[in-house]
Amino acid sequence: MAILAGLTGTIGSGKTLAASFFQELGAHVIDADALARMLVSPGEPALGEIVQAFGGGVLQEDGSLDRKKMAAIVFSDLAKKQALEHILHPRIIAREMEIYDAIRRQDPCAVVVVDAAVLIESGNYRNMDKVIVVAADREAQIERARRRDGLTAEEVKARMAAQWSLDEKLKYADFVLENREDEAKLKRNVRTIYLQLRQEAARAASAQPGMR
Ligand code: ATP
Repeated sequence: MAILAGLTGTIGSGKTLAASFFQELGAHVIDADALARMLVSPGEPALGEIVQAFGGGVLQEDGSLDRKKMAAIVFSDLAKKQALEHILHPRIIAREMEIYDAIRRQDPCAVVVVDAAVLIESGNYRNMDKVIVVAADREAQIERARRRDGLTAEEVKARMAAQWSLDEKLKYADFVLENREDEAKLKRNVRTIYLQLRQEAARAASAQPGMR
């Protein structure tokens, strides 16, 4: 039987890099952030709702969402963050489940990994068979996120503070994916978890009559 694993962690912890390693090994990866971007493209109902809630000032000249402006708004105002999530999360989750259903019809033993920063905060972890939490060192994370997104350390910290801490997220983990060393080590750690997920998928399939 296919298995759905949520991959989460704090900002800059290495989720996306880990997801790419899962994919190299044969997992199907669903990128929640990419779905979010798709769902707010011009013409999508979610974008209309965002403009209603936040005003036309959040749009760029070409009518697309100014994601930088949006991020600055929601990371400094909890109520606004919740309003945006209320518009986006149900749609992201519904789309993820549609994609997962399509994958498992094609590949009944698929290992499907959902890369989602707020998997736990959004309640979406309940839809997962397993939860994987990436554990990295806070200082390294801040430095990487800063370099990647061109933010100040203070901005990264404000974004971290708006999400649950690693310790809180770890309480929901079926697997802890350690990313405290180099990329090669992360890759090996991904492999260990991937093999367990595959085994689990195969075991569940053999327990299901009529499944491959
Ligand atoms: P966000 O939630 O902010 O999107 P993320 O958890 O998806 O972040 P990544 O984008 O995977 O994090 O990683 C952040 C940056 O750190 C990337 O540039 C990535 O290549 C780098 N990185 C991640 N892990 C390591 C590592 N072990 N060694 C060196 N660089 C790393």
